Amino acid sequence: MGSGQVTDWQGKHVTVAGLGVSGVPAAKVLHGLGARVTVVNDGDDARAREQAAALEALGVTVRLGDGATLPEGTELVVTAPGWQPDKPLFLAAERAGVPVWGDVELAWRLRGTVPGKPVAPWLCVTGTNGKTTTTQMLASILRAAGLRTAAVGNIGVSLLDAVLGEEPYDVLAVELSSYQLHWAPSLRAHSAAVLNLAPDHLDWHGSMEAYARDKGRVYEGNQVACVYNVADKATEDLVREADVEEGCRAIGFTLGTPGPSQLGVVDGILVDRAFVENRRESAQELAEVSDVNPPAPHNIANALAAAALARAFGVPPQAVRDGLRAFTPDAHRIAHVADVDGVAYVDDSKATNTHAAEASLAAYGSIVWIAGGLAKGATFDELVARSAGRLRGVVLIGADRALIREALARHAPEVPVVDLDRTDTGAMLQAVQEAARLAQPGDTVLLAPACASMDMFANYNKRGDAFAEAVRELGAGA
Ligand code: ADP
Repeated sequence: MGSGQVTDWQGKHVTVAGLGVSGVPAAKVLHGLGARVTVVNDGDDARAREQAAALEALGVTVRLGDGATLPEGTELVVTAPGWQPDKPLFLAAERAGVPVWGDVELAWRLRGTVPGKPVAPWLCVTGTNGKTTTTQMLASILRAAGLRTAAVGNIGVSLLDAVLGEEPYDVLAVELSSYQLHWAPSLRAHSAAVLNLAPDHLDWHGSMEAYARDKGRVYEGNQVACVYNVADKATEDLVREADVEEGCRAIGFTLGTPGPSQLGVVDGILVDRAFVENRRESAQELAEVSDVNPPAPHNIANALAAAALARAFGVPPQAVRDGLRAFTPDAHRIAHVADVDGVAYVDDSKATNTHAAEASLAAYGSIVWIAGGLAKGATFDELVARSAGRLRGVVLIGADRALIREALARHAPEVPVVDLDRTDTGAMLQAVQEAARLAQPGDTVLLAPACASMDMFANYNKRGDAFAEAVRELGAGA
């Protein structure tokens, strides 16, 4: 089972690692292709048993409570993307010379197997932050150009469905996580973008170098364009290291004036100096900054990356503008909740790491910042030092708030801090009330926690909902 297409699955011994969102559909598809499928899963709880029973009824073998041992005769392992590479199962596969594919690799290999269905090229997006937003912007632009497309991968439609389902696509906008890229060795995109690189998920990858290497895989074998962030040299380095198709170009995006082969911003206009007749002398206007929703700096960068991928695919300029205008961001991403007493309340609960929080803090002038939660091993000195000048005050919540408090004491000792010694869900109402007390008209109260939410909430959505609810209560009492 080398790098080519597998045309005959009949009787192949395939081990699927992990039940769940990617494992169950993968097992079903492989079984349907005639493979002999065994699913192995670490857990053995009620949910796993239910899923196992459904698969066994189809004729799939399921082994619960032992995800470590490689079943005898395995010719291929298909893994859930989240499984860590140093797991014993993968070490055993390596020793036995058995390839390991993730869900993305499987979908990639199954392209073109549905008779009569067009094989859609993939435009891929990865990076530490902004993946979902950029992928959705890209899909919106492609749609505005009249193309049949979907935002797939880490979001929306699953890649397997996109590749094997009946719906025909001209092109796919594909969001890829670093985990998925790790397990997708033969993926070759039409064009791809790495938005930015900041330390995240290092526990999984083992080091920053390994994390960057996995992100960089998205550029391998690109046909038309490798899109990088001019402000983030690490992304450009990855382009340089990639082995791409003859004629594939490096395309930069920048919030400043673009050079040749770049997209950027001039006088409030998004302009393209890459996909134009004469890139030394001419520039193509694409859209206005105000067409980007919300027009925060990091989001304009996302829009430029999406535009670069769309332009690499041959989309005309007005479709970029129309697609950006038609786009609305998912909830909890710099969502304006309400104005109360001249203060804007903004929910960026999705800012679950310091890099994301720094981007959203950079979008406002005078901020009362609500932060805290689970730090996941992060440090806050850089974030606080770079944002100190914008802080009117800070309200801290959550389990690891002391880490942020200490960074504030070091780098912003003059900024007033309210430290809420609570991790119950109701703490959000108090946090918003305290923030309202610190804020002055014209300020923004910004929930950008820089931390995960699971110490207090089920997920970042619930955290954002609690914030919005608290703001409504505040407004009702105003
Ligand atoms: P991802 O899918 O990579 O998690 P999202 O588009 O869901 O990215 O955005 C997550 C959060 O990251 C946003 O709420 C915002 O705080 C921040 N963010 C979005 N785009 C960027 C960017 N280009 N650079 C830095 N932070 C960003």
